Amino acid sequence: AKARVVVIGGGYGGATAAKYLKLLDPAIEVTLIEPNKSYTSCPLSNEVIAGYRDIKTLQVGYDGLRKHGVEVVQDLVTGIDRAARTVTTQGGRKLGYDAMVMSPGVEFHFEGIEGYSEALVDRFPHAWKAGPQTLLLKKQLEAMPDGGKFVIVVPPGPFRCPPGPYERASLVASYLKHHGKTKSKIIIMDANDSHSKKGLFQQAWKKLYGFEKEGLGTHGMIEWVKGAEGGKVVKLDAKTKTVSSDFVDIKADVLNIIPPHKAGKIAVASDLAKADGWCKVVPMTMASAEDEAIYTIGDSCVAGEMALYGNPDANFDMPKSAHIAMTQAKVAAAAIVAKVNGLPAPQPYYANTCYSIVDEGYGFSVAHLYRVENGTFKYIKEGSGISPVKMPDNSEVPALYRKLEAEYADGWLRNVMADAFG
Ligand code: FAD
Repeated sequence: AKARVVVIGGGYGGATAAKYLKLLDPAIEVTLIEPNKSYTSCPLSNEVIAGYRDIKTLQVGYDGLRKHGVEVVQDLVTGIDRAARTVTTQGGRKLGYDAMVMSPGVEFHFEGIEGYSEALVDRFPHAWKAGPQTLLLKKQLEAMPDGGKFVIVVPPGPFRCPPGPYERASLVASYLKHHGKTKSKIIIMDANDSHSKKGLFQQAWKKLYGFEKEGLGTHGMIEWVKGAEGGKVVKLDAKTKTVSSDFVDIKADVLNIIPPHKAGKIAVASDLAKADGWCKVVPMTMASAEDEAIYTIGDSCVAGEMALYGNPDANFDMPKSAHIAMTQAKVAAAAIVAKVNGLPAPQPYYANTCYSIVDEGYGFSVAHLYRVENGTFKYIKEGSGISPVKMPDNSEVPALYRKLEAEYADGWLRNVMADAFG
């Protein structure tokens, strides 16, 4: 009999897994279950907020997958019986599987900030799942008067898209600058003490937006407050739009609270995410450490040697990005195809690229490469890299270099969307 694979979630991870299962072995029956008719890409959605991109360029349907022979079911998975290997859906379907790919993304936890709750997201949008929230935040930015405060609240890591909040701050500054609202402030209240691509961001902020130094009350449009210096928001007064940390109260004009997140609800409900909230995986195959028939990929998993798992040498986890979700999807698809055909899993490698845009024609990137050695993830330093802050002779990086990277970002987006959904 043909092997049956059910894929949960039609985001970057799930769509890629479904497509590559069919490409690698057309005999496998692949069913993808996703509640939405179309997908909106989070990557480059910060450009929508700043008015540099139409949200339509980020939207894609599932006909591309259907053309590859994937059965796409518009429904929500509500239950998994791991012993019987069946899934049930809100719409009353029941499907059996030989293998499952689980890529439900993240679930927000509206906890940790007193006075904040899910009911407030239409007043204080997170825009951390692209779509109506993105457009709402854009509208609020456009309505903000000159001299206003746009406050971004960053949750403790790990969160999806580690450079995302800082890219957003940059593009909001770009919008305000290009609309003559230069008396305005963007205040990043960060629960963390450092962040992705910090050197590159701060260099760009100095160059473009008058950034002076870290901390509150500084010159320039962007102020970054780290956790240790009062950045961790613990309280919200919704009436006055005031957020408070143990050190300071800030009254915002636009308040963008990004809630803490964990693995998607269905991963937690089916006991695949452990106490820390993320799904642990087998490095060779992306199979869940809890269930060999289920492959937990994308933002829901933790792929690395997280200190949480008792490894004192832990120094990396794969970032939660679309790019990594897609390489994890390809590893899972190849491992499943090998398994159903009685072959050993192929040697995997994992790659990530993440572009950040800070102004029109100004971008930079980071790339990571990982392999598996003796059953554990290894970071390949020689294959990884980041855009330079300075050139080797200590001179400035030419503007053309930053401009080209902004163009590559656009090309990257078109490629990953075509690769996942086309
Ligand atoms: P998702 O893409 O979130 O997909 C999950 C899907 O599962 C959803 O469609 C959801 O509807 C579905 N689902 C959930 N539960 C169920 C269920 N029970 N049944 C059926 N379906 C379900 N990444 C990059 O690589 N580069 C970038 O430049 C970048 N920029 C970003 C900027 C922002 C502002 C943000 C917020 C994120 C950015 N990311 C970027 C990160 C990227 O969006 C995520 O890492 C990526 O979407 C993860 O893919 P995924 O498949 O795990 O989850």
